[in-house]
Amino acid sequence: MFNMKNIKNNIESDEIMWSSIKLQLKDIYGDAEYSNWLKLLTFNKVEKEIIIFYAPTKFMCDWILSHYGKKILSLWREKSISIKDISVFVYNDKKTNKEQDENYKSFNKTIPNPKTDDFENNLDPRFTFKDFVVGKSNELAFSACERVANSKDVPFNPLFLYGGVGLGKTHLMHAIAWQKKKLNPKFEILYLSAEKFMYEFIKAIRVKNTVAFKDQYRSVNLLMIDDVQFIIGKESTQEEFFHTFNALTDKNRQMVISADKSPSDLEGLEERLRSRLGSGLVADIHPTTYELRLSIIEAKIKKYNIDLSKDIIEFLAHKITTNVRELEGALTRLAAHVTLVGRTVNLEIAEDLLQDLLRASDRRTTIDQIQKKVAEHFNVKMSDMHSARRSRTIARPRQIAMFLAKNLTTRSLPEIGRKFGGRDHTTVIHAIKKVKELVKNDSSLSEDIEILTRSLQS
Ligand code: ADP
Ligand code: MG
Repeated sequence: MFNMKNIKNNIESDEIMWSSIKLQLKDIYGDAEYSNWLKLLTFNKVEKEIIIFYAPTKFMCDWILSHYGKKILSLWREKSISIKDISVFVYNDKKTNKEQDENYKSFNKTIPNPKTDDFENNLDPRFTFKDFVVGKSNELAFSACERVANSKDVPFNPLFLYGGVGLGKTHLMHAIAWQKKKLNPKFEILYLSAEKFMYEFIKAIRVKNTVAFKDQYRSVNLLMIDDVQFIIGKESTQEEFFHTFNALTDKNRQMVISADKSPSDLEGLEERLRSRLGSGLVADIHPTTYELRLSIIEAKIKKYNIDLSKDIIEFLAHKITTNVRELEGALTRLAAHVTLVGRTVNLEIAEDLLQDLLRASDRRTTIDQIQKKVAEHFNVKMSDMHSARRSRTIARPRQIAMFLAKNLTTRSLPEIGRKFGGRDHTTVIHAIKKVKELVKNDSSLSEDIEILTRSLQS
């Protein structure tokens, strides 16, 4: 059984509040309207009794505010009477915020613009080392980050963190910044996403101020760039990043970089940059294990101050395996439901509430599943998917499995190659091309592929 104790009035409780209001809004306006508009609203914080949201564009801010503002406010006030107003800002865009302030003059005095350059505004206060749960899958990354934060003499540069979404890369980078700043408030730290780096760089070019840009980025003590895969294919940004990187290395300044793949798997990255990125410590964060998920859930429910029965905890750890972000989403939703209806939740209700999340977790197809299905379908052995045998009866199904792996998963070509007995990514490219060619003239093959795809996705 699942009980709500009094939730502390903090960020988490505001977030839980927002989750519960979202459920109500969905009920009131229906799924379609909800997905079109309200889903795009991001809760930021409650400040001076005003609820602050972000939305992607100015138009949306206006629209959401005029169509749903009153409703959101009244729902919120039902639970927290002190709330006075709501405000919607354009996400991360200073200039538009200014324009927007013209429209919402009343907020001018009370709400500061979210300053994106500000150290603290860039960092999530919840992302600290203390709140990071360590397990086998992330212990290397965790201790490397602690080392960067705590010691003056770091034996590796850069620290390159990689792993799938929602596994804690951003959390760890913010934790480094908080810790370092605590130990030495004068230490100059710059943390930003690669996307922001690009945006700032392009802006500098536009206003012909690249000298200042270079000075700013090349003078810090610690530079952290998140999600560097974003600048792949953006040539001038990649070039600038490369030079920034070299300038900082020359001065012996520390860098921490994150990406969704290892340097060698980042397709399309310039070769010289790839080798630099891989020249320090490369630490990967693996998908979570069952044990880690259990510990994370336990840590979070303690923080949210909610009671959750053991069977629900175990159920969540078993079922929501994709990443920690989804696990958090599931927990806030359960908590929200309890605040909303003020009743306990049993396993059955929990399953019902989390249906969509559970389905998403189930739906993700793996390369192993593909290999197994294809092997069964063509009556070859699973081991032949990895073997070196080249006879056509075996090579063809293998190629088809590679083709499906590319289509049905988000794995990169080198990763797919590795899953097929350590083959090179060019072999995978060849296989995909071959299958595409064959399908054109072979209707029974294209039927096979369709059947396989459908059964893998169902
Ligand atoms: P990434 O940057 O790798 O996509 P994030 O760092 O944004 O992932 O993590 C997603 C969410 O999951 C965050 O709210 C973060 O606090 C949480 N999280 C991830 N890993 C852990 C962990 N090991 N312990 C506690 N919280 C975690
Ligand atoms: Mg991230």
